[in-house]
Amino acid sequence: MSQQTDEPDVELVTIPGQWNFGYTYFAGRVASAFFHELKNKRIMGSRCPQCVRVLVPARGFCDACYAPTERDLVEVGTTGTVETFTILTEPFPGLPEPPVVVALVLLEGSDSAVLNAVTGIDLGDLDAAAARLLAGMRVGVEFRAECEGRITDFHFVADLPGGGS
Ligand SMILES: [Zn+2]
Repeated sequence: MSQQTDEPDVELVTIPGQWNFGYTYFAGRVASAFFHELKNKRIMGSRCPQCVRVLVPARGFCDACYAPTERDLVEVGTTGTVETFTILTEPFPGLPEPPVVVALVLLEGSDSAVLNAVTGIDLGDLDAAAARLLAGMRVGVEFRAECEGRITDFHFVADLPGGGS
């Protein structure tokens, strides 16, 4: 089917909006265990009894074979590899001033990547930073001094000892 290209010009509509609302996230039993263990500076995954993959953050079912994964929680490593990332260049509520790197990182002992911020990258040249991240940058986990059971208890740091580069 062809599309007409000689349609009359229409003024395109833009509608400004803003979302700002509170909400409560129900983590469930397995993810609650994940958040509780963050207070102990431990990152937990759940092992699927069928495909044997370790899923991080720990969750109640496998995203590949849908098997319940509540019974086998395992601690994963604190070094990993960047699988994909974005560099935020606009301010975002709750995040530091841009530019900010957010990446999915495959931690040692895990078969699924976990999302968090990455620090320790020179962001003076965003293209150079992106090239380093694209190369599968090695990162390490750094926990806050006081963890409170939130995903923000840790972030990734480029070039940590043991994390390589
Ligand atoms: Zn599975």
